[in-house]
Amino acid sequence: MTSIDEKLKLMAAGGAGENCDSGLEKDTWAFDSMPGYGPGASAADPIPAAAPRQGALPSEYKQATAAELDSRIRAAKRTLGDRAVVLGHFYQRDEVVQYADFVGDSFQLARAARAKPDAEAIVFCGVHFMAETADLLSGDEQSVILPNLAAGCSMADMANIDQVEQCWQELDDALGAGPDADGLAPVIPVTYMNSSAALKGFCGRHGGIVCTSSNARTVLDWAFERGRRVLFFPDQHLGRNTAKAMGVPEERMPLWMPNKPLGGMTPEQLRDAQVILWNGFCSVHKRFTVRQIEKARETFPNVRVIVHPECPMPVVDAADESGSTDYITKAIAAAPAGTTFAIGTEINLVNRLASENPQHTIFCLDPVVCPCSTMYRIHPGYLAWVLESLVRGRVINQISVGDDVAIPATRALERMLATTP
Ligand code: SF4
Repeated sequence: MTSIDEKLKLMAAGGAGENCDSGLEKDTWAFDSMPGYGPGASAADPIPAAAPRQGALPSEYKQATAAELDSRIRAAKRTLGDRAVVLGHFYQRDEVVQYADFVGDSFQLARAARAKPDAEAIVFCGVHFMAETADLLSGDEQSVILPNLAAGCSMADMANIDQVEQCWQELDDALGAGPDADGLAPVIPVTYMNSSAALKGFCGRHGGIVCTSSNARTVLDWAFERGRRVLFFPDQHLGRNTAKAMGVPEERMPLWMPNKPLGGMTPEQLRDAQVILWNGFCSVHKRFTVRQIEKARETFPNVRVIVHPECPMPVVDAADESGSTDYITKAIAAAPAGTTFAIGTEINLVNRLASENPQHTIFCLDPVVCPCSTMYRIHPGYLAWVLESLVRGRVINQISVGDDVAIPATRALERMLATTP
């Protein structure tokens, strides 16, 4: 099957098909120097001033052909042997995933890093918050490397530590800080894995916890045993979909708008809230619609529709199932041959699932090619650069979380691990 990168190149050459942003068809180096997050679904998301930018890649990597980069990456990996482990996220392009020693979601990959304590370097082909998490869970002597520093996540950047501290102060003023007569805290902070280490550290300092899309329900149960309310950030959709499935009424899940006083809520709304949702979202998953599901059902009456819980609530409600990338992968593997699946998640993963499972018909709900554009910033040229630098004894693009953040952030992660071993 044609990879997403090849498809975009075909489109650039006038081939059939449509993508969500013509900038995606430009060559990688033009793409990489674009302002903001670059083209793609997150093009309209405001990028924080402090978001990391990548310095210039040496020209030898920009000028190398795909075949040259391939042989250089393979040679560097052979030389490094067990000294370096390459991790590839499910949403990463095939041209990079082919070199990964492990492929998985962000948490599976952080665990994979932990399972390789002898590797000196962990090369994380994902986005910034994932490399931070790998640094938190890996050994002190290990270096975590992000091949392109500009590979961020627009959803993670929708909640920063200053905004969350401000919100916490306002909640404290409105609801008080101490436990009630039942010993429950007024609010327990819960952060999605897709957040900066600073926010994980915030949760660690305030009796909170981290969750993934696989364990969000278990983590919310944990939080409700300890608090009256949950402050859930940064993804409103995962929070809303999970809490709704647990029976929390929508009117008790107000949306916190970070730039408005009291998040834009009345004190009564706040007091009545069970889950305070942060106004963040994933621009890739926000593109899926109920109409796409209806169309899939019109075309394939027996289609099984599975969407990621980062999709908006009406989309999750209209689907047959919703679940994490791990859930989707396992559901497809377990289905009887000949099943037709319409999947609502990032297109690199959907395409890969389709080619790995030829016994089924698998397609992406969104007919328009729209990869996660920040993840897409990891090009084989960057991978060759960081691996060959390691061969020469140089660690570049290291992601390192300072102890002041790492200690409480690890505490919040350990709470999650204890909840869902
Ligand atoms: S798919 Fe969405 S949540 Fe995942 S890395 Fe890309 S922008 Fe972030």
